[in-house]
Amino acid sequence: MNASTAEVGYERISPKPIRACEHFNLTHVTYWHCIMKQVVLSIHYPVASGKMGAVVGHTADLNLKEIGVNGLRVMDASVMPNIISLKTIVATMMIAKKGVDMLIKDNPRE
Ligand SMILES: Cc1cc2nc3c(=O)[nH]c(=O)nc-3n(C[C@H](O)[C@H](O)[C@H](O)COP(=O)(O)OP(=O)(O)OC[C@H]3O[C@@H](n4cnc5c(N)ncnc54)[C@H](O)[C@@H]3O)c2cc1C
Repeated sequence: MNASTAEVGYERISPKPIRACEHFNLTHVTYWHCIMKQVVLSIHYPVASGKMGAVVGHTADLNLKEIGVNGLRVMDASVMPNIISLKTIVATMMIAKKGVDMLIKDNPRE
């Protein structure tokens, strides 16, 4: 694939190539393919790796208790049954808050 300087936006970028891609011509699209392999990363928000819910296959119950493991509650993003439609940290904090409330309720002070 060929691309002109203008097509890759060369006029707006630093003339210093990153070290891992310096063997490519900075004005060629192959340089940008190399850049993508080096620096592009996912910022997906991982959730639901240990879903809660009364559903076969979910690993925590509705009280955040890990099924089959005594004394373990899960209070993080992993228990979300599905990805939410907003950023995840506030929901994660609310899960933790609910989890602590459950812990306190189950272990009242004498
Ligand atoms: C790049 C990026 C940007 C983000 N930006 C935002 C944002 O702007 N707004 C927002 O709402 N959310 C954002 N999030 C999502 C947010 O960070 C997560 O939803 C949140 O941190 C999830 O909390 P958690 O407690 O489930 O997991 P984590 O915060 O990942 O906590 C897990 C902890 O467990 C520790 N750990 C792992 N394995 C072990 C082990 N074996 N033993 C002991 N400790 C262990 C880890 O070191 C870590 O401290 C972002 C996430 C990423 C990756």
